[in-house]
Amino acid sequence: MKGLIKTHFIPIRIIPFMDSSLIFQGITEDAGIVSLLARGYKRPKSRIRGEIDIFSVSSVHFFIKDTREVHTIRDARLVYAFHGFIENYESVKRCSDIGRIIIKITTLDIAKSIFSLYKGLLRVAHGKKRCTEELYYGAVVKILHIAGVFPPVTRCVKCGSTSILYISPAAGGPLCEKCAVSYPDKRKVEQGLLKELFFLLVKDFESITSFKVHDKTKDIINMLMKEHLYEYKKSAD
Ligand SMILES: [Zn+2]
Repeated sequence: MKGLIKTHFIPIRIIPFMDSSLIFQGITEDAGIVSLLARGYKRPKSRIRGEIDIFSVSSVHFFIKDTREVHTIRDARLVYAFHGFIENYESVKRCSDIGRIIIKITTLDIAKSIFSLYKGLLRVAHGKKRCTEELYYGAVVKILHIAGVFPPVTRCVKCGSTSILYISPAAGGPLCEKCAVSYPDKRKVEQGLLKELFFLLVKDFESITSFKVHDKTKDIINMLMKEHLYEYKKSAD
């Protein structure tokens, strides 16, 4: 992707640069994960001051010459600020953690879906004035699914059988009894847990807020996520 890009952007990390500038690293709708330099952002007269902010969507213009470099923002306009939960520390932490996962796993081909998912999460957290644990885990499951590591939880990931008895992070999901034999990290799962995973996968964020996730389900999601992020890191090295 090269040339002048006009797209929507949600910053995830902010890095101070020189005296008055900031670098925003985040996700765009059309150009994947980018680092954008906002020159003179902190100056009172800056045209883009306040037009880009954490947990907000902005319309940005920037020029791409080389995909690895930091691109200078030509223009920016704030579109939505989802700040309803900003006073709640736990909520801010959960939304930031989701952002960090997004930076790690988003490739250009899935950027549009991930962007829309993160925007959806922020919108609901803003409306509810909270990002609950359930929203957080719902987002993780959906992100892993888009990244292709979280298959439909109703079938064995190896043979497609619908009689699932185990789940294995190394296999990347649920397994039937026969396929589970070759995975030492397998854990027995109850049908209730699979139902919860499936619910988090298919329901929208609004419905997820009125749902309670059990600790065992959270453990499994954490295991699957850690396994995937580790795999990703290995392949990136
Ligand atoms: Zn199987």
